[in-house]
Amino acid sequence: MTHINHAVSKALVQHAGKNSLIVLEDLEGVRSATEKVRKKDRWYSVSWAFHQLRQMVEYKAKLNLSTVVTVDPAYTSQTCPKCGHTEKANRNKQKHVFQCRTCGYTSNDDRIGAMNLHRKGIEYLCAGKLHQHDWCGAGSCQPALM
Ligand SMILES: [Zn+2]
Repeated sequence: MTHINHAVSKALVQHAGKNSLIVLEDLEGVRSATEKVRKKDRWYSVSWAFHQLRQMVEYKAKLNLSTVVTVDPAYTSQTCPKCGHTEKANRNKQKHVFQCRTCGYTSNDDRIGAMNLHRKGIEYLCAGKLHQHDWCGAGSCQPALM
């Protein structure tokens, strides 16, 4: 796991490039993540693995002049990135499909999670000193959906 975390964190920081904001879901102590892996000691290993990955990403990002933020993972895979509608039924976990019950927007559920993390990163930039309008596109910040 340590080897995998080294490889993943290196690839992530390199892919992001210098002066990037890297947004991670905070998976330490997340109940839904722990419930999946309650058998034997896997709860411990998942939590520990994420903690290690986060530390590696933060360390390598700092060397690469980038910043890491962690965000609350709640609803990131249930929220429609187009209209903001949030409902558990938007996501079919077994089929890995997201389909918004309100606007019909459909995509892979992990892609939806990534789109929502991207938006949370932009909100972070818009709320703080790091704000630059080229991050949010239209010249003004979009209001938060959640
Ligand atoms: Zn929608």
